[in-house]
Amino acid sequence: MITPEQLAGNLEYVRGAIGQAAERAGRNAQDVTLIAVSKTVSLELVRMAYNLGVTDFGENRVQDALPKIAEFHPPEVRWHMIGHLQSNKTGKVTGAFASVESVDNLRLAQALERHASRQGITLPVLLQVNVSGEASKEGMSPAEAPEMARHIVALPHLRVEGLMTIAPIAPNPEETRPVFRQLRLLRDHLRNELPQCGWRHLSMGMTDDYRVAIEEGATIVRIGRAIFGERVYV
Ligand SMILES: *Cc1c(COP(=O)(O)O)cnc(C)c1O
Repeated sequence: MITPEQLAGNLEYVRGAIGQAAERAGRNAQDVTLIAVSKTVSLELVRMAYNLGVTDFGENRVQDALPKIAEFHPPEVRWHMIGHLQSNKTGKVTGAFASVESVDNLRLAQALERHASRQGITLPVLLQVNVSGEASKEGMSPAEAPEMARHIVALPHLRVEGLMTIAPIAPNPEETRPVFRQLRLLRDHLRNELPQCGWRHLSMGMTDDYRVAIEEGATIVRIGRAIFGERVYV
């Protein structure tokens, strides 16, 4: 496990790099939300990150996240669901997570809608798009996004705030730029088609490619390893 000093150093480095990328793009660093991806990471490190000012955490597995959320939920902390979600797990998600970034089909959206409605809440969601078309990636295709978005936007207890994507692993992060640009263009198109929701968020960019993603307009970056170190799966 990394030391508190390493964690502080990592965070300072990542925040600096976010600021520089924003500046290169003529953007404000305040318009980029850092989600610290804490999958496989101990609650002890999560608390440490919180004490260093991190308020947004991302998890990709419901069953791993729920015990952490139950134990650690100061009022200003937001837990985000960023991983593939099965419709039958949605009941546990709507109460615990501040948002779901990985909505990639209508059935899942409808299941979230049912639970959000029952709990009397409005759940912020992002639509996950598989821009690169890799078979290993979750997400709706860019071609089916407009039609699916039209149905999901109509669900009264979900608030569609934008799009999310995962870029392919690439030796050179420059290679991911077209993917991020395409997500932004798709978002612009959807905003024209369906102006009733905000479309303000583009969640894109991880440890290896967040700088390029910010240059292409990311408003949310999801960063794990650059903050918490390499993941250890047990
Ligand atoms: C794990 C994960 C991340 C963070 O990846 P790093 O390479 O550790 O920064 C971001 N987004 C999703 C959806 C993930 O599953």
